[in-house]
Amino acid sequence: MSQQTATTEKTQCRYCEKELHGRTGKMFCNVDCKNNYNSRIRSVKRAEENKLFPEVIKTIKNNYRILLGYNLSRLTENEYITINKDELRSKGFDHRYCTGASIDTEQKLWKCCFTFCWHENEESLTFTHAPHLNSKNHFHQ
Ligand SMILES: [Zn+2]
Repeated sequence: MSQQTATTEKTQCRYCEKELHGRTGKMFCNVDCKNNYNSRIRSVKRAEENKLFPEVIKTIKNNYRILLGYNLSRLTENEYITINKDELRSKGFDHRYCTGASIDTEQKLWKCCFTFCWHENEESLTFTHAPHLNSKNHFHQ
C-alpha cells in the first residue's frame, strides 16, 4: 500500500463536511452544497450588518409600519387626522425619530416618516400625508 502524497489536506465539503473525492481544488460535493454554503455566508453577513444598525433605523421602520396601518396615504392635501399619543405609544410608535422635518408657514414643526408627517400637540399628534415636507430641498414660499 502506497501512501498518497497529498499536497493539500484531506478535503471536505465546505458545507456538509463530507469527505470529497475527485479532482483537487473541489470545495463542495455538489451544486446544492455550494448554494447552501453561499447563502449561509450571506445570511451571516446580513446578521452582522444588522447588528451594526442603530436602534433608530429599526424604530423608523417600525414607525413606518404602524403609520401604514392608519392608511394615511388616503389623506389629500390639507386633510389631517389626529391620533392620541397613548394610542400610538401602545403600538410602539416613537415620535422622536424621523426621516425629515420642515417648518410650515405658520411656524409649525412637522416631522416626517417618509411621506407621513406629523405635528406634535400636547396629548396627540396630527398627521398628514405630505411628501414635500420630507424633502430635504423643501423651502416654503
Ligand atoms: Zn456537501
